[in-house]
Amino acid sequence: MRQLGRRARYYRKLAPYNKRNVPALTSPAAPVDFPAPLARVVPRDQHTVSRSQVSPNALRVLYRLKDAGYQGFLVGGCVRDLLIGLTPKDFDVATNALPEEVKRLFRNCRLIGRRFRLAHVFFGSEIIEVATFRAASAPAQADEPLADLDPEEGEGPEISEPDEFDADVADTQGEDAHVLDEHGRILRDNAYGSIDDDVWRRDFTANALYYNIADFSIWDYVGGLEDVLARRLRVIGDPETRFREDPVRMLRAARFAAKLDFTLDPPVEAAIRACSGLLASAPPARLFDETLKLFLAGHGAKSLASLRRLGLLEVLLPTVAGYLARHPDSLVEPLLVRGLESTDARVREGKSVTPTYLFALLLYGPIAQAIETLPPNRWHEAGAILDACDIAVRDLSARVALPRRFSLGVREMFALQPRLEQPRGRRALRLLEHPRFRAAYDLLRLRADLGLASPEMAAWWTQLQATAPEERGGMADGLSGGARSAGASRGPRRRRRRGGAKPAA
Ligand code: ATP
Ligand code: MG
Repeated sequence: MRQLGRRARYYRKLAPYNKRNVPALTSPAAPVDFPAPLARVVPRDQHTVSRSQVSPNALRVLYRLKDAGYQGFLVGGCVRDLLIGLTPKDFDVATNALPEEVKRLFRNCRLIGRRFRLAHVFFGSEIIEVATFRAASAPAQADEPLADLDPEEGEGPEISEPDEFDADVADTQGEDAHVLDEHGRILRDNAYGSIDDDVWRRDFTANALYYNIADFSIWDYVGGLEDVLARRLRVIGDPETRFREDPVRMLRAARFAAKLDFTLDPPVEAAIRACSGLLASAPPARLFDETLKLFLAGHGAKSLASLRRLGLLEVLLPTVAGYLARHPDSLVEPLLVRGLESTDARVREGKSVTPTYLFALLLYGPIAQAIETLPPNRWHEAGAILDACDIAVRDLSARVALPRRFSLGVREMFALQPRLEQPRGRRALRLLEHPRFRAAYDLLRLRADLGLASPEMAAWWTQLQATAPEERGGMADGLSGGARSAGASRGPRRRRRRGGAKPAA
C-alpha cells in the first residue's frame, strides 16, 4: 500500500506538466508506428464535443477526480462517437488516480479485475468505468474475468486462470509487468503509466482520443481526429504486431467498420488477412462477448457482411461460414440476413433482443446440416431436432462459448417449430404460455416469409395472439384437419428447403 501511495504522489506531481500544446506529429498518411512524445491539444473551440452530450454521471466522475487534484479524461469510443454525431453506448474515463484512490473518492465504487484493475462507479443502472493510465499494449477489458477483488466486499467469483496470471496487483511496476507468449500475444500487462504511455496500448487511432475535463480540449497523439473525421480505421503501431498481441482486435476492426461505416486502412486489411487464423486461439468466452457486440448492437447485418469480406467469419463461426459456402443458393443465407436486419430494427426501436434468438439464426444452417444427415421421415422428430441442436452447439463451442441458458433456449425454439406448424386443437393454446413462444413464433414467421414454413400457419398464430383469450378456444377448435394436414404434408419439403440443399420452386 505504501508503494501505491508513493506512486500516486508521483503522478499527482506530474499532472500539471502533462498538458502540452504542439501540432500533430503524425500525418494521416504516415504509419502510426512510434510513440509521438507529445500530444496535439485541440482546444474546445476547434472541436465539436460538448458537455451537453456527455452523461451527467460521467461528468460527475470527471469533476470529482479533477477537484481531488487528479487528471480526468473521457477516452475511447465515447469521444469518437461524439465527434461523428453518434450517441455513445457508454462513457469511459481515464485518470492518473490509482484504483484504490478512485475507490476512496466514490462511495458507489467497486474495483474489478485481476490482471489489471479497474474502478466501476455505479449510478443506478449506469456504470462509469474508470481506468488508471497504463503502459504498453493491453488486451481488451473483456479479456479480463470480472473478478471482484475488493477486499471490503468479500471474495469474488472464482477465476480459472493459470498461476502465472496471479501477479500481485500491488507489485506491478517490475520488469515482468508485460509478458508475451510465443506468438506475441499479451499474457500479462499490469504496469501503470501516464497518459503518454496509455495512448500506445489502445487499438485504433480513432479510439485513442482523450477529452480533458480541465479545459475541454481533446488530446490527440496519433492523428486520431483526422482519422475519425475521414471515417478511417488505422491501427496504432504495426497492424500485424498489434493483431498478434490480441487477435480479438481484428473482430473489433470488423465491428467498427460495420458500426461506424469506417474504411479500413489498406495495411489493416492486409494484416487481418495475414493474421485471421490467430483468432482461433482467443478465449471462447471472450469471443462470445464479441459476437454479441457484433450482432446485437444494431448493426448485425453489416457485421456479417464485414466479417465475411475480411475472411473472419470462417474463423469465428466456421460451421456457419462453411454452411453458407457449401450452399450458396440456399434460403439459409437470406434467412440469416433478414433475421439480423429485423434484430437491428428492434435495437433501433429500443426493443429487447436476445442471444437465444441470435444463435438460433446463426446456427440455422449447421442445425439443418445435422438434420439432413438423417432420412427425411425423421426430420420432424423432436429427438432428431434436439440432437441436431446439440451437435451444432458442440461444434460452435470450439470457438464461441455459448452459455447453457442460451443453448437450451435455442433447443426449445427449434423443438417448438413442428408444434407451431402442426398445432393440435386446444392443447396448442398452452404453447402461448411457453417461455420461448415469442422467439419460436418470430422464427416461424421468418421461415414462413421465406417459404420455409406455411404462411397460413404463421398467420394463424399471429391472429391467435391478437384474439381475446376467451375466443381463442374457438379458434383452436376451428383448426380444421385441412389446415393441419396442409401443414403436415408440406413438412418434408419445407425441411429440405430449410436445409437449403435444393430450394424447392
Ligand atoms: P464501443 O463502446 O462502441 O464498443 P469502444 O471503442 O468504446 O467501442 P470498448 O470495448 O468500450 O470499445 O473499449 C474502450 C477503449 O479501450 C477503446 O476505445 C480502446 O481505446 C481500448 N480498447 C478496448 N479493447 C482494446 C483492445 N483489445 N486492444 C487495445 N485497446 C482496446
Ligand atoms: Mg466503450
